[in-house]
Amino acid sequence: MKIHSSTTSPRANFGVVTALAVLILSFPGAIFAQRLPTTITPTHYTLKLAPDLKTAIFSGEESIDVNIGEPTRLITLNAIEIAFQSVTVDSNGSQQSGTVSLDAAKQQAIFTFPDIVPAGNATIKIHYTGILNNELRGFYLSKTARRNYAVTQFEATDARRAFPCFDEPAFKASYDISLVIDAADTAISNTPIAADTPGPGADKHTLVFGTTPKMSTYLVAFLVGDFQCISGREDDVDIRVCATPDKVNETAFALDIAKFALHYYDDYFGIHFPLKKLDLIGIPDFEAGAMENFGAITFRETDLLVDPRTASIAVQRNAALAITHEMAHQWFGDLVTMQWWDNIWLNEGFATWMENKPVAAMHPEWNIPEVVAGDEQNTLDIDARPTTRAIRANADTPEEIDQMFDGIAYGKASDVLLMVENYLGQETFRKGVHAYLAAHEYGNATAEDFWNAQRATSHKPVDKIMESLIVQPGEPVFNFGKPADGSVPVAQERFFLSPGIAPDPAQKWTLPVCFKTTDIQDCKIATPETSSLKIPAAGLLFANATGKGYYRSAYAPAQYADLVTHAESTLTPSERISLLGDEWAQVRSNKATVGDYLNLVAALKSDPSAEVFSNAVGRIGTIADKVAATKQERDELAAWVQRNFAPAYYRLGPPAPGDSPNTLELRAQLLELLVDHGNKTDLSVQARQIANRYLDDPSAVDPTLARAALEAAAENGDAALFDRLQKVYETSANPDLQETALRLLVQFDNPALLERGLEYSVSNKVRNQDAAIQLAIGLEDPDTRDATWNFVKTHWGQVRADLTTDLGSLLVTYTGSFCTGKARDDVKNFFAAHPVTASDVALKHALENIDGCVELRHLQEPNLKKWLAVQGAS
Ligand SMILES: [Zn+2]
Repeated sequence: MKIHSSTTSPRANFGVVTALAVLILSFPGAIFAQRLPTTITPTHYTLKLAPDLKTAIFSGEESIDVNIGEPTRLITLNAIEIAFQSVTVDSNGSQQSGTVSLDAAKQQAIFTFPDIVPAGNATIKIHYTGILNNELRGFYLSKTARRNYAVTQFEATDARRAFPCFDEPAFKASYDISLVIDAADTAISNTPIAADTPGPGADKHTLVFGTTPKMSTYLVAFLVGDFQCISGREDDVDIRVCATPDKVNETAFALDIAKFALHYYDDYFGIHFPLKKLDLIGIPDFEAGAMENFGAITFRETDLLVDPRTASIAVQRNAALAITHEMAHQWFGDLVTMQWWDNIWLNEGFATWMENKPVAAMHPEWNIPEVVAGDEQNTLDIDARPTTRAIRANADTPEEIDQMFDGIAYGKASDVLLMVENYLGQETFRKGVHAYLAAHEYGNATAEDFWNAQRATSHKPVDKIMESLIVQPGEPVFNFGKPADGSVPVAQERFFLSPGIAPDPAQKWTLPVCFKTTDIQDCKIATPETSSLKIPAAGLLFANATGKGYYRSAYAPAQYADLVTHAESTLTPSERISLLGDEWAQVRSNKATVGDYLNLVAALKSDPSAEVFSNAVGRIGTIADKVAATKQERDELAAWVQRNFAPAYYRLGPPAPGDSPNTLELRAQLLELLVDHGNKTDLSVQARQIANRYLDDPSAVDPTLARAALEAAAENGDAALFDRLQKVYETSANPDLQETALRLLVQFDNPALLERGLEYSVSNKVRNQDAAIQLAIGLEDPDTRDATWNFVKTHWGQVRADLTTDLGSLLVTYTGSFCTGKARDDVKNFFAAHPVTASDVALKHALENIDGCVELRHLQEPNLKKWLAVQGAS
């Protein structure tokens, strides 16, 4: 699964925004064991479904071949929202009917038979009906203005809403699926259509799909409607990209990425893509970003259907990464599946790490390694909170399982793999991946299987390193002393953003610390006992060469000063991003001042890398919002921004045909920075002109600059612009333009227009998949935050009605954008009286963020004032 990420903004950098990139889903669930007995195992499902898209119900005929380990009269499997009509079991040549009892809390059905079913093979036959729900999970209804679609989303535990099943990842079986659908409709499932026959009845036809390989229930998919596709072929695999008919024109970009990635992965894994075909389908209503169903990957439309002529670099990059993420899962997750959900991090961490490789190979100009380095800084900040969790944690109930899909399972696990690969070398690591996949294909595996394979191929202590990072919560900081005689003293401890928390002295890590050398790096293993490390002979002391180490570094003053002076000439862009993150972490933990950080930003102000620039100046927004306490301080900071960065923007000039993506992004970031900090009326006018030109003809202006201009224009925008954006959202067939326009409707500073935007967001004109994101965006921006929160409180009934999905926790997470004790109490009291399903962890994190911000302002605001006075005087 890929979490939807198109709403991340480079501006805020407080640990809150990252939660939007990686939704933290959580539920206040009752805790009881819900695992199925292991004595009955399914081997094959035959499933015939007849959905009625108008009445939103479906009927199902199912037979499950099982192996019965011990004689029994009871068979237990998973089912919810299912009405059973009949259940029989065939065994030993005789058939008997059973009765059904339901355990709603455990989401289980128990079949009881009059006679003992003997050990051995048996076939369970079930007739039932179900509902096409509105909850974006199970077998659900997705609607456009023209018609309804019936689609599926089963991960983690919702296959049981579509068909009674042994709904655990280790119960792998093969499937024969057929669908009875309207004569004019088509359907897509995991395998190609094997037969298409008319009937039953004049207005129906029946599609029979080929037998699947052995796979887990959560990877089954079937989609019904009038999808249209474009197709291609790569390495003997038929690849299609499909969408609703009005959007099939936006599919070419995805097909190119998918063809490239398929060949890339065939090579990398050394195992040919396991199926005959691969479909990628855009779904009008979709909660996550995308889902890796075996051979039939589903997407939120904006993560698949992108027009490069009108989409910014960031939008193109995000969609490409969503595609390569899901395709990586076809091997890592689908072919080889985790034994149980406690190891979902291995699935998601792996795909998050792997997604970058084919995109970086296909589009080196998109600066993927630097984007990864920036993401790692966000993850390190999330993991430096006291309420973070260990990567591997127990999960039994659906609520606990859903909670595992968070920034730790995706971001941290991916960073751990990146560090291990960097330490072992790419080819050695690749061989370990191949060995792991080859040993477990069409089966299940655990984390130990993975790191033991890596240890066996590399002969290095991968098991110790990975275990150290996977079973312990949090991250280390390595404090380096003054180097002498070819080595440097070092002490490690757990790092917390908040200076008020004392780390447990017993908590230590074993991991590679890589020093920068003239040719890349020199890695040493630091263990809990290590008190000094040998360092390379000459040059700067920089302890996170390549920026891929999952730890914070802090240096003695002379070594740090040396790094600041030589950062731009000596460090790589990823290393500079790492240095910036480390210095900001020092500010957060009160070991450095906000002025120290801004001095480092000034030292990098002419940085040629857009990603370095974005990391450096992203935190200026945080400082203006969270540290500055008065308008005067914000004005003085804005004056400093203008003095330091306006010349670079004017030097770049307007977009030119030969501009690299890096230049396009740098220009857009400069425009956004200068409009956000300062009263440059000439730039505001320019932004409005660019925005209007883009809305007139989206392919006539550089889309990357246009997005920055649109944000600036909306902030200062009038009713005419609001109306225009609303019309784009309602009439465009380009999902990216639609979403861009929709997001802007809650970014107007004009109070009346903002109110209109918020009202609109929770109206029936906006899909439920978007409502919570709209409110989160309103809460994120300091200029719209108070009004958005007031709106939420005063329109709670309406807001609540739209939080039908797990995305409700996003709204709660974003209340963590506030920065006063009063707001903290207000948020706490409000959600105590108006609880949101699935959001207790989100609330805990939000309150912690507010507390952290209050502390940051208290400690750093005096430093900011002093630093600004010096800047003003000089
Ligand atoms: Zn995933």
